[in-house]
Amino acid sequence: VSDSGNKKPSRVRVAVRLRPYMTQQDDKDEGSCVRGLDSQNLEIVNWRNATESVKYHFDVFHGEQTTQQEVFRSSVKPILPHILNGQNASVFAYGPTGAGKTHTMLGSPEQPGVIPRAVREVFNLVKAKEEDEGWDYSIGMSYLEIYNEKVLDLLSPGSQDLPIREDKDKNILIPGLTHTTISSFSDFDKHFIPASLNRTTASTKLNQRSSRSHAILLIKVVRTQRALTQRQQTGKLYLVDLAGSEDNRRTGNQGIRLKESGAINLSLFTLSKVVDSLNSGTAIRIPYRDSKLTRLLQDSLGGSAHSVMITNIAPEYKYYFDTFSALNFAAKSKLI
Ligand code: ADP
Ligand code: MG
Repeated sequence: VSDSGNKKPSRVRVAVRLRPYMTQQDDKDEGSCVRGLDSQNLEIVNWRNATESVKYHFDVFHGEQTTQQEVFRSSVKPILPHILNGQNASVFAYGPTGAGKTHTMLGSPEQPGVIPRAVREVFNLVKAKEEDEGWDYSIGMSYLEIYNEKVLDLLSPGSQDLPIREDKDKNILIPGLTHTTISSFSDFDKHFIPASLNRTTASTKLNQRSSRSHAILLIKVVRTQRALTQRQQTGKLYLVDLAGSEDNRRTGNQGIRLKESGAINLSLFTLSKVVDSLNSGTAIRIPYRDSKLTRLLQDSLGGSAHSVMITNIAPEYKYYFDTFSALNFAAKSKLI
């Protein structure tokens, strides 16, 4: 059952994660331009004048010592039980290339990120529920990419641009997208690992592509009531590693240049407008239809859905402008 739109749409919770300082051989060691103040506040120090800083307030600030487990526990774990009850949710990693989006979402075998932890947790929650309730659960996955406003199926390489549709209950559908039933975490891994390796570890050209495209994992939980009615509910969880936000800054966020430039990432630009509209609570029309990403996420972002955006930032001065613009977007900024 979809939300009729009478309720005020829910806010997007905003977390910021600062990655540790990383010195590279050819870099001058200039120190960090970001300072954490406490679990919700941070400041960025002006790159020309170290006595000038701007302070920001967020729902959560994860400092550079924060572990993968802590990020998962505080920002993602609490929304997962809703997926089993037929509600939708989305988790995004936002920020400039090199700031830690893929580390946060995917991580490594030693430091698994949000995706493997969330999938394990969904299996655990289903197992616990199946024992004491009158529902049967089934879990499935899809994995896709939006690149240059094309929707591409990562579980079916070489596929064509897929259409996005809406049914009469306002659920968003992608006809033709591979949807695979998964029965365990290792079953998930079997499908997910080859597809994500394809995306992240190829040539330099492909790495550029991965910083300009949005990788979208969908975990769908369908439950069927054992009673005669066989009532069904579907909950969707989107886990999204967004394109680098520096694309956005390069175009200066100007509407006119947006139209002129073929290279702009329209989906990222529109996402920022949608999140801003949801969080300011003043917009009459939320511009979901203006891009593929926001259209795809329409039933899982705002409305009755549970959404978290993790804005990843880097501390080095060479990221100063990208960090500043990412923080401004993420905060819309409640200056203290
Ligand atoms: P992005 O996906 O935003 O371009 P990455 O996730 O690839 O950024 O991170 C860039 C580099 O920084 C990678 O080598 C990654 O392992 C490292 N890194 C990012 N975040 C952290 C962190 N919290 N702790 C340790 N290393 C990190
Ligand atoms: Mg990445």
